[in-house]
Amino acid sequence: MEVKNFLVIERRVKYPRIELKGMPTLILPYGCRDKAEEIIEKHRNWLEKKIKFVEEIKRKYEKHKVYNRTDDELKKIIKHLLKRYSKILDLSVEKTTFRHMKSKWASCRKNGRLSFNLKMKYLPMHLIRYIVFHEMVHLIVPDHKADFWAYVKKEFKNPEKCEEALYGYWFLCLNNRNSIFQ
Ligand SMILES: [Zn+2]
Repeated sequence: MEVKNFLVIERRVKYPRIELKGMPTLILPYGCRDKAEEIIEKHRNWLEKKIKFVEEIKRKYEKHKVYNRTDDELKKIIKHLLKRYSKILDLSVEKTTFRHMKSKWASCRKNGRLSFNLKMKYLPMHLIRYIVFHEMVHLIVPDHKADFWAYVKKEFKNPEKCEEALYGYWFLCLNNRNSIFQ
């Protein structure tokens, strides 16, 4: 089922919610598939606000520059950053993987493994730096509460702007799928 640019899925949640990381997704409680349309109608205003937000971000970033690096160049950059930030954060990164991910730029597993999306090669350098730092801070603070942002802000004064840009770039990369994604 689709609501304009949204993917609609069911998950173990109490109330409908929207996730805007990667593909915008409307998440409905289990057993609501039949009632999906009714729920969407009920939350129409809220949904439209979110849709408008997505559209604005898309428009804002559609002309931004997409970079043309190889996978190896990206890996080299990230490895260098891991070393640099390990010193700043006083930690060591045990395992790192690079792969194509469908819904996020990077992730930090509970076992301390960091995964980076190879699509990061299309991003401007400051966003690559931001993602690497963000994931490394997760090795110290797993969630996104105040402590986490306090760490991030030591290196990135305006993380909100980076998050927004990453969201915009996500669409930019998806939109250019035919030309830049092989
Ligand atoms: Zn995070």
